Amino acid sequence: MRPTPSELEVKIDFLSDAVNRTQPSQGMREAIANVVVGDEQNGEDPATNELLEMVKELLGKEEAVLLPSGTMCNEMSLAVHCRPGDEIILAATGHPIHFEGGAPAAMAGAMVRPLEGQYGKFTAAQVDDAVRSPSRLTPRSRVVAVEQTTNVGGGVCWSVDELRPIVAVAKEHGLRTHLDGARLMNAVVATGTPAAEFCAGFDSAWIDLCKGLGAPLGAVLAGSAEFIDEVWRLKQRWGGGMRQTGFIAAAGIYALRNNVERLADDHRTARLFAERIAQNEHVGIDLNAVQTNLVFFDLVDTPWTSDEFAALVLRHGGVRLLAVAPGRMRVATHPGISADDARVAADIVCDVLDTAT
Ligand SMILES: *Cc1c(COP(=O)(O)O)cnc(C)c1O
Repeated sequence: MRPTPSELEVKIDFLSDAVNRTQPSQGMREAIANVVVGDEQNGEDPATNELLEMVKELLGKEEAVLLPSGTMCNEMSLAVHCRPGDEIILAATGHPIHFEGGAPAAMAGAMVRPLEGQYGKFTAAQVDDAVRSPSRLTPRSRVVAVEQTTNVGGGVCWSVDELRPIVAVAKEHGLRTHLDGARLMNAVVATGTPAAEFCAGFDSAWIDLCKGLGAPLGAVLAGSAEFIDEVWRLKQRWGGGMRQTGFIAAAGIYALRNNVERLADDHRTARLFAERIAQNEHVGIDLNAVQTNLVFFDLVDTPWTSDEFAALVLRHGGVRLLAVAPGRMRVATHPGISADDARVAADIVCDVLDTAT
């Protein structure tokens, strides 16, 4: 079991860029405090409407809707795209497979077809091979989903040149396409490619307001007007219709205006940490995969499981890592991590690793 903050003092928190305990900035708090609010379900919350306009423009989509979380964006999209028994083609590392409580099965009634590939990416040829030939016996291939950036795949960016053929092959087979943009803005900042270019051709795409963007909660899902109408039906049905969401939207607007460029700082601190631990003989790391704010490394020749190592590092220096898989650790940088924190944390990680010999 992963130790919780109440058990031990966390000084440097790399657990996630979402569950980090960074407080909203003063400017964001003021935006929240001063916002004029109305009723979201009736389309009468002004800040929510403004946020939706911003995201439609950003992602190049016709309509958008505010949801409480990125998980709900994924799962409502899949539930709209799929009929029970349909199949979702996505990376084996995909968030809906591992971290959404079995929702593709529970909420969409769909099966998943995990594709193996480097860095949580796959190719159009793999999609082409995975699409089922129509038959009464097989599930119906229905949707292809990608993550930008690939979370457990390594925090790596897809290029537009990689995404375009995937969208093309999906359309050729009559499949829907979905882009999980939990960290889309990290990819935008890391590559310089506009968000709308990454989202082009996708039937559904969303951004998380709470990861590196630093809002307390919220995510915005975008697509065609027809798609968003169907999402609204589920939003009401699943109890996601809200009231004075301006308090969330004000934080989101503030985040999009003020916190996008600063994602580059998170990328720099991630790089700094990665390069520093890469020197250690007990660290297996692919520095090519360190493209954004996520760093993955493997424990090499140590006596510990990843959970044991996470516990040791927390006890030794108050650094909280995510034990993401057997022998594999994840570090997420975010607004609460300075360059100094990254250096100190890397040294603490290396100190503990050095006791392995
Ligand atoms: C965090 C994350 C989600 C879920 O977002 P929440 O807002 O935490 O529900 C979905 N996909 C990916 C790739 C994520 O990293």
